[in-house]
Amino acid sequence: MITGDRKPLEEIAAMVEGYGHVLVLGCATCVTVCMAGGEREAEETALALKLGDREKGVTREVTFGNIERQCDEEFLQEYADQIARADVVVSLACGCGVQHMATVFPDKVVYPGLNTTFMGVTEELGVWSERCLGCGDCVLELTGGVCPITRCSKSLLNGPCGGSSDGKCEVDPSIPCGWQLIHDRLELIGQLWRLDEVLPPKDWSKSHSGGPRARVREDVQGTDDLEEGGA
Ligand code: SF4
Ligand code: SF4
Repeated sequence: MITGDRKPLEEIAAMVEGYGHVLVLGCATCVTVCMAGGEREAEETALALKLGDREKGVTREVTFGNIERQCDEEFLQEYADQIARADVVVSLACGCGVQHMATVFPDKVVYPGLNTTFMGVTEELGVWSERCLGCGDCVLELTGGVCPITRCSKSLLNGPCGGSSDGKCEVDPSIPCGWQLIHDRLELIGQLWRLDEVLPPKDWSKSHSGGPRARVREDVQGTDDLEEGGA
């Protein structure tokens, strides 16, 4: 999932200062799971903005809603009327959702209510950890299912830096050394021999280093139109 943290309320309040009708929109997918930007957080944010307005003697409308997936136009359009009525939208989606809403409704002011952090997993209730940087050329099959790009603080591809101590990373001793994790996992699955193999240079052109990426599936492009046309 994509994780995020809600921006401080004062920051959001400053963004929407002077606007008439404020609409706070949550996203029902990743940011709901990480308890940052779902319906509950949208309602809380709207209520907090209203309280702030009351303290300052400001009278305006502050409403909230929740969209299934803000990164998908189909779901954004379900809120088109509410968005049209608002003077400003605070999106509690990840940065993808915020940008997509601004693209789909180009004349609408859309501000981010979250700081998007990373792609990760739920380790336990209230704890999420980064697991993937979307490098575009996955090597998990070579590293025991532990990502060296993400879980090694230096993103080393061919073994540890030599600075780890007691299985902890020298960059941040509060986290495990990614290469220790790789070693332990390879040992567990009987593939320690992989550590003797030198990985070739990685093709970083497939990562964000090669510029913004797009994924195209020509086989499904336009199939919506075909279905609508009864083909
Ligand atoms: S190797 Fe790349 S795609 Fe695979 S988990 Fe790591 S960052 Fe993600
Ligand atoms: S101690 Fe381990 S995780 Fe930290 S930078 Fe070195 S190899 Fe990477």
